[in-house]
Amino acid sequence: MINEEAYGQIRSELDRANVTLVAVSKTKPVEDVLALYELGQRDFGENYVQELVDKQVQLPPDIRWHFIGHLQSNKVKYISSFVHLVHGVDSLKLLKEIDKQAGKNGRRIDCLLQVHIAGEETKFGFDEKELVASLDEISGSVNVRVTGLMGMASFTNDPVIVRAEFHGLRTFLEKLRSLQGDIDWQTLSMGMSADYNIAIEEGSTMVRIGSLLFGER
Ligand SMILES: *Cc1c(COP(=O)(O)O)cnc(C)c1O
Repeated sequence: MINEEAYGQIRSELDRANVTLVAVSKTKPVEDVLALYELGQRDFGENYVQELVDKQVQLPPDIRWHFIGHLQSNKVKYISSFVHLVHGVDSLKLLKEIDKQAGKNGRRIDCLLQVHIAGEETKFGFDEKELVASLDEISGSVNVRVTGLMGMASFTNDPVIVRAEFHGLRTFLEKLRSLQGDIDWQTLSMGMSADYNIAIEEGSTMVRIGSLLFGER
């Protein structure tokens, strides 16, 4: 069951702010995806390769599928023929594999680099220094186009912490923009159901919202 009213509200709020909505449909049935599709939604996010592959074949071909989970290099090949944007690229090894698989499919795949912004140890992602040191290698990929950054705030109810983490990611994006180089740092993917308002205030251009649209998982 989708929440049509919440969708309408969030959609108009995001359209006004010029922010892209990725509807996160992980664990939800294809019927729910289709219901949102029929309201005009085209960008959907999934976390698990097998689930994404299963859904993609059952759903309309003009859906833009975002992979937002932790992607293992050995699974890139299953989604490389159709994925629209990979949000969580957290290593050069993974970037190289996406580059290779994109080439095999005669495509160029857009990717966001995931930056570790949360205080917690468990989250994936580059740290800022490591990313800056890898920029030459990142720019060297032929079939991958890096278009921005993605980050996840700490799992906390404290809005002060969340805001500071989002602010830090935005500041880092600005820093990357100011460096010489041929990467066009356009996209800042940050914000989920619980914190997307703060994320937008801090400069997000793309939010990933699941439970507000599809209900709790
Ligand atoms: C599940 C998930 C979301 C959506 O979370 P909600 O709290 O349901 O909005 C967003 N981003 C990532 C990376 C996720 O794994």
